[in-house]
Amino acid sequence: MEHARNRVTFGKPIAERQAIQWMIADSAVEIESLRWLVLTAAWQVDRGIDSRQAQSMAKLHGGLKANEIVDRVLQMHGGMGYTRELPVERWYRELRLLRIYEGTDEIQRRTIARNLLKGHATVRGHLG
Ligand SMILES: Cc1cc2nc3c(=O)[nH]c(=O)nc-3n(C[C@H](O)[C@H](O)[C@H](O)COP(=O)(O)OP(=O)(O)OC[C@H]3O[C@@H](n4cnc5c(N)ncnc54)[C@H](O)[C@@H]3O)c2cc1C
Repeated sequence: MEHARNRVTFGKPIAERQAIQWMIADSAVEIESLRWLVLTAAWQVDRGIDSRQAQSMAKLHGGLKANEIVDRVLQMHGGMGYTRELPVERWYRELRLLRIYEGTDEIQRRTIARNLLKGHATVRGHLG
């Protein structure tokens, strides 16, 4: 956001362009949704509830969204985002790992789907 406020193109800060505002808004919504997924899993752990479904959901969604968000951050920084003068390109590479270690995306999806198909978990508000 600091970069968007400071970077002026064609006479205006890019923060005033709707395309950039949408990137900021979408990222904020995704970060907030992630916070709730993580808090749900943590709340279940605190109460001794089986939280494996919530943990898999938080891990899967967190890895995917972190990658989408850092992609937007790099895009907002333009060519500078791609260079090694800023840390953004490193974040872009490092966050890719979130989709591989501690259970890949595919394995989290497998866990989530199996829990639903076997009736160990429900889609709240719709099933069960
Ligand atoms: C930087 C880094 C740090 C790591 N740190 C640790 C660590 O501290 N401790 C640790 O134990 N491990 C660690 N790992 C290992 C990591 O957990 C594995 O890389 C990961 O589990 C994937 O296993 P793999 O690399 O053997 O890929 P593979 O098992 O060969 O998987 C390749 C692809 O096939 C998919 N796939 C595999 N099996 C299935 C299946 N049954 N159904 C559907 N899709 C499938 C995978 O999701 C993936 O997309 C680390 C890896 C990296 C890169």
